[in-house]
Amino acid sequence: MAFEGLASRLQNVFGKLKSRGKLTEDDVNEALREVRLALLEADVNFKVVKDFIARIKERAIGQEVMKSFTPGMVVVDIVNKELTALMGGTQAKLARSNRPPTIILMAGLQGAGKTTSTGKLAKYLQKQNHKPLMVAADIYRPAAIKQLQVLGEQLKVPVYAPGADVNPVDIATQGIAHAKEHGHDYVLIDTAGRLHIDEALMEELTKIKEAVQPDEILFVVDAMTGQEAVNVADSFHKQLGLTGVIITKLDNDTRGGAAISVKAVTGCPIKFAATGEKMDALEPFHPERMASRILG
Ligand code: GDP
Repeated sequence: MAFEGLASRLQNVFGKLKSRGKLTEDDVNEALREVRLALLEADVNFKVVKDFIARIKERAIGQEVMKSFTPGMVVVDIVNKELTALMGGTQAKLARSNRPPTIILMAGLQGAGKTTSTGKLAKYLQKQNHKPLMVAADIYRPAAIKQLQVLGEQLKVPVYAPGADVNPVDIATQGIAHAKEHGHDYVLIDTAGRLHIDEALMEELTKIKEAVQPDEILFVVDAMTGQEAVNVADSFHKQLGLTGVIITKLDNDTRGGAAISVKAVTGCPIKFAATGEKMDALEPFHPERMASRILG
């Protein structure tokens, strides 16, 4: 599970700190040095770590903290608050349009878990009594349309899939018309992924965006690809203007660096985290709970 290594290292550092009645500046510096190393080893972006440690130092090394009865606890509390803020502070909610349907564009590189996440999100919405429609606009990967249809059957969520001969912009606009006609309040558009970011992919996504004016553009990233995931998200955000991130495969990623740095680097909040291949393995991302889990 994600953050195991980081969590046990940090809990060790702070365990020592909490048990002390008095703290010197050197004690705090020493602990923060270890926190810094642990974060770097978890594959958190270098600059993010540097700024994070600087912010904690500024708050932790001061008369107020040193004079408190439980200085170690105060330091841990500061770290917890800063870690929560780093991951976005409060939970970033999924958009909901005043004029349904709410349109969600799903983007990501191939293999990140985009199609699977589209199914999971449909199931999540269905459980909240919404009526989602999935739209198959990934016409390039031969199995993608079929994959979405299979998920649709399994979840009993309708799939709009006119086929691989129709261009993706038309599929998307027709899909929305279909949703309006059939009373769907959410439309999830599964778009094409490529192995790498390329111009054709960006151009197609931009065209779909212009045509459908989505309420959300969710970018699906594979946590296991670490800082690379963060860099890819950043490029997409700069070109497309993302509204949120879905981070997948947290069940396989033991380091967790992408989850910690993606908001700080891109400015885009993680809205959902996926922790498995099953359709119910998707949860809203709660920065505060995640920080508490890491710090124990
Ligand atoms: P796409 O190319 O981005 O649409 O990727 P897919 O949705 O086809 O997913 C690629 C692979 O990753 C599939 O085998 C999925 O079952 C798997 N996958 C997706 N999300 C997760 C996750 O959260 N955890 C794990 N362990 N596997 C996942």
